[in-house]
Amino acid sequence: MYDIIILGSGPAGLTAAIYASRAGLKFAVIEKEYLGTGQIAFAERVDNYPGFYGTDGYSLGEKLREHAETLGTEFIEGEVAALAKSGSVWNISLSDGGKLEAKAVIYALGASPRKLGIKGESEYLGRGVSYCALCDGAFFAGKTVAVIGGGDTALSDALYLSKTAEKVYLIHRRDTFRANKTLSDKVKAADNIELVLNAVPTEIAGGENAEIIIITHDGTSRAVAVSGIFVAVGTVPNTALVKGIAELDETGYIKAGEDCVTAAAGLFAAGDVRTKNVRQVITAAADGANAVISAGKYLDNYQ
Ligand code: NAP
Repeated sequence: MYDIIILGSGPAGLTAAIYASRAGLKFAVIEKEYLGTGQIAFAERVDNYPGFYGTDGYSLGEKLREHAETLGTEFIEGEVAALAKSGSVWNISLSDGGKLEAKAVIYALGASPRKLGIKGESEYLGRGVSYCALCDGAFFAGKTVAVIGGGDTALSDALYLSKTAEKVYLIHRRDTFRANKTLSDKVKAADNIELVLNAVPTEIAGGENAEIIIITHDGTSRAVAVSGIFVAVGTVPNTALVKGIAELDETGYIKAGEDCVTAAAGLFAAGDVRTKNVRQVITAAADGANAVISAGKYLDNYQ
């Protein structure tokens, strides 16, 4: 039986691995994707992680992973299908049938892109609709695309796409951005980004591939012709596995403080899945450290 099983190999999970290794614990990291590093891999540029100014997210993720590997982390590739507690033992079932046991679990499964939930969105996924500008932007070089959203991700995506696309529509439902001022200023200054504000997307349509996005703007509907639609309207936490086990807030995040302690004994929530004010790589990494320290205290009294 493991002391700790860490679910997820993003910055929170990898930092937890570094701390667990240094604490001499018997642990493993379950990763859904081989050599995965979570959402950070899709960030074009990260300028706010100390010591790594100007890095791209993929390289930063690789560095975190290398660090965990150097300290001897055991990675197990697999998708967690179920989590349950029997007595004081946590049972982790993988979708390939694998089963693991641990005294404590650090739950660091991150978040997934939020969907718009409009007609045509799922039909045109991979045929014009994308949730990852960095992954799919190159397919739209020289074409017209739309980015939906007004947060840091949407504005970063719009800037990234503006380098290769002919034109980028940035469609946002309000007239002010949630994104930081530096990004907002850059977007407003870009020649080939057109802001479409106070506009709500209602439908994506086309033939074989997406061709238009319909938006409602000041009470009237309008079709915007685009080849690609990049949806960047935030994320939803991957907390389905702990429903009924941990306490969740009204938006689905696991209730836990800075110590990452949840309502379920031996379960620690780290990274974007946890209730918190700031979701950044630095706060995810901090959670990884805190979760192991809290888990260590739990293990000291484990029976
Ligand atoms: P976010 O900050 O939650 O922003 C989501 C945006 O999508 C908001 O502008 C929101 O509009 C809009 N939206 C939400 N639901 C919508 C819907 N159904 N239809 C249309 N628009 C919708 O998400 P994010 O940009 O992915 O950022 C998440 C976190 O990561 C944030 O803490 C952010 O600071 C961080 N991040 C940081 C960086 C960086 O530091 N460079 C880069 C990327 C992300 P409203 O504004 O009207 O609510």
